[in-house]
Amino acid sequence: MLAATGNEMKRIKNFIGGEPVDSLAGAFIHSVEPATGKVYSELPDSDDRDVDRAVESAKAALPAWSSAPAEDRSRILLRVAELIEANLDDLARAESIDTGKPLSVARSVDIPRAVKNFRFFATAIVHFGSESHATDREAINYTLRRPRGVVGCISPWNLPLYLLSWKVAPAIAAGNTAVAKPSELTPMTAHLLGILCREAGLPPGVLNIVHGLGAKAGAAIVAHPDVGTLTFTGGTVTGAEIARTAGPMFKKIALELGGKNPNIVFADADMERAIPGSVRAAFTNQGQVCLCGSRIFVEESVFAEFVHRFVAQVKRLRVGDPLDADTDQGALVSKAHLEKVISYIALARKEGGEILAGGGPPETIADRCRDGYFVEPTVAAGLGAACRVNQEEVFGPFATVIPFRDEDEAVASANSTPYGLSASVWTRDLSRAHRLADALESGTVWINCWLLRDLRVPFGGMKHSGVGREGGEEALRFFTEPKNVCIHYTKES
Ligand code: NAD
Repeated sequence: MLAATGNEMKRIKNFIGGEPVDSLAGAFIHSVEPATGKVYSELPDSDDRDVDRAVESAKAALPAWSSAPAEDRSRILLRVAELIEANLDDLARAESIDTGKPLSVARSVDIPRAVKNFRFFATAIVHFGSESHATDREAINYTLRRPRGVVGCISPWNLPLYLLSWKVAPAIAAGNTAVAKPSELTPMTAHLLGILCREAGLPPGVLNIVHGLGAKAGAAIVAHPDVGTLTFTGGTVTGAEIARTAGPMFKKIALELGGKNPNIVFADADMERAIPGSVRAAFTNQGQVCLCGSRIFVEESVFAEFVHRFVAQVKRLRVGDPLDADTDQGALVSKAHLEKVISYIALARKEGGEILAGGGPPETIADRCRDGYFVEPTVAAGLGAACRVNQEEVFGPFATVIPFRDEDEAVASANSTPYGLSASVWTRDLSRAHRLADALESGTVWINCWLLRDLRVPFGGMKHSGVGREGGEEALRFFTEPKNVCIHYTKES
């Protein structure tokens, strides 16, 4: 039992060399429970000295770990997966308290996905092969794939353990060692993961976790000369900053960034699926999923009917204490984020939008949560695709509904933002589905679904939504260095 969830103040530690340690400066940052607005834990305010220490530990662990048989690494990662699964209840509760997300979501999405991430890459690595090319019957080429060394893994707050494990599991499965930094807003499950990795027998130094601020601890990982590979998920502005540092140092980087994803509903769609599917796509995790479909384009002829039914379903979502079993919408992650979302609702009104549902904090909420960061799921209409609220990422429970005349207009509007992460299309017309799949500028296109994930597929964004792809073989290729060996052979015996 991790027993992470009593009422006493929690002390989060860095995890370096297999040991829980404080920052060298002994400084701490307070962490707030979003549902109550109250400080409930503190985490190390790490700086470049803590990062140095973590990188040294990762370097020391590298020779043994990178040369261990893949099967041995696999066995330990499977054990990590088992321990996460065995501690699902504690981890889900910790994730819910840290993020404000409903406990039901943490239990059914976040923690099970962390289990899958470890299990998937633990097994993928033992099936991972490399290429061979025969050249005109005079040479044979084969590709060696070696671990790249120390990998920096920087992750955001919206799906804390889910996204941290999505980076760490393939990085270490491939034989690298890692220095990870979770978001300073949601450090708890990363702290607990360190404890579980130790219990699983992960050798000290293979995974090091440094907590702290992005501009301090995160930037120190990015700039460290011995961290040659960086995998980052977070905002587009942060991604650009990381690329500015890492580019001239010739680091290998993967950036998974923001989105402003279209959800396109044609008149021929199965509305029994398209409407609840669009509600889910817009508001899962309070709209704080990079893949959320926040711009809902609906064919003109069914616009009024769709909006009527969609808004009715949105109004039924229950906003409340994340720990209550019947809560659909919990708290936003922080006061600053709540203020950002509220400012976009105000902007929607200023840009001439009409608020059809929500529009601010809920009128009633459990007493425990009266100082929490809640906003009702909000739907706005009457805003063109070029409006700021339809161009900029809000990353909260805010969606717009926009009518379109025909397929060309839908595609042009969908593609009109700088982002290109994901898109959903709802139609029964197979040819149209294929045409849109081809035309949409997006790393993922879902047809008649949303967030249906297969961990083998390439995952990532186009345009300002990212560089590189995660998932399956893409991830294992990213975390390894290919070296081609060309062997010439003579034809005569
Ligand atoms: P963020 O960019 O503020 O922070 C992400 C992480 O980077 C945090 O750990 C933070 O401490 C760290 N960081 C901040 N500044 C840094 C710097 N200068 N150097 C190094 N590290 C730094 O993002 P966030 O607010 O935590 O997350 C929300 C964003 O993440 C949204 O834009 C969302 O769309 C995006 N996101 C994208 C995906 C995806 O797969 N494409 C998935 C989830 C979230």
